[in-house]
Amino acid sequence: MPHSSGGGSHGGGSHSSYSSHSSRSSYSGSSSSGSSYSVDNTRVSRSYFEGANKYVYYGPRGGIHYLYADRKPTEPELSVTIIILLILSFFAWGILWFLLELGLYIPRKLDATTYPSGITILDEVGVLSSNQELENALQQFLDKTGVSPAVQIVEESTWKGYYTDLETFAYSEYLRLFDDEKHWLVTISLPSDYNHAEFVDWQWEGMIGDDCYPAFNHVSEDLFTETIQRYLLRTDVNTMGDGLRQAYDSFQKVCMERQVEVLYLILAAGIASVYVLLCWYFINDYIKAKRCHSAVRIGKNAKEKNCEYCGNLYVVGSVKQCPSCGAPIKASTEESKKKFTME
Ligand SMILES: [Zn+2]
Repeated sequence: MPHSSGGGSHGGGSHSSYSSHSSRSSYSGSSSSGSSYSVDNTRVSRSYFEGANKYVYYGPRGGIHYLYADRKPTEPELSVTIIILLILSFFAWGILWFLLELGLYIPRKLDATTYPSGITILDEVGVLSSNQELENALQQFLDKTGVSPAVQIVEESTWKGYYTDLETFAYSEYLRLFDDEKHWLVTISLPSDYNHAEFVDWQWEGMIGDDCYPAFNHVSEDLFTETIQRYLLRTDVNTMGDGLRQAYDSFQKVCMERQVEVLYLILAAGIASVYVLLCWYFINDYIKAKRCHSAVRIGKNAKEKNCEYCGNLYVVGSVKQCPSCGAPIKASTEESKKKFTME
């Protein structure tokens, strides 16, 4: 269905159909401090605290890392983290796409061969006479944008009393005249006594098909409204055709330019940063929890020892195989034997 692209009247003022969107996002998260954090309601720290047990885990290359925790956290669910990341990505990419669409607009010409395109001038009042220049301007507009321009001039009596306002009339005229959504109709209404009046209070309304979007967005629509209004205000009824020609000429020169709205792009960058931070937070959380779960409880005074085969360190009582080379570790002392039975 077509929608109003804006309009105005000789009395001044133009209204725009664009309603601004606003999006807000709030982010709150708890960040863990370097040395102490919480996993599965368990306090975990790099340094000893009251009531803590000592744990050890080995890095991917066999490095030894100690942890203190009051109990061993349960194993984190990878699927939960993945679901959180998926939901997060779904919303983040949705908002990002929306903001980029608003912030960076690259107009694309419509393919005028795919629908009954052409220029339309319907002067039901007879103020335009024969205006070859206006026809040329409309044709240029069509050639450049692929959107079919239409200009309709009617007397107020045609619609007043039958329709609530000019916008409703223009809407129904669009549906009556065109079967597609690729036209841009400008309906200008003149008072019935325009011929005798000194001050002709015309009004007009633009009605644009929804399929015109690739070529025109709301910014273009506002610019169009402003341009038509500006040139119509410079003319009287007899030079209305010239005003329209100049308006289309002027609009046509700038209408297909790429639009950049920095505010939306900044907002998008902000959202992207928050998204990356949140992903990092959840992934990091999972890794920490996994590590804590895999850590092995050891005695407070457990000793480090070198592997007989590779020479790398391990903590006595924490492993049955060398974390570096995988060689079996002999339970050589009574102390470590005790530890094994405890595990
Ligand atoms: Zn080893």
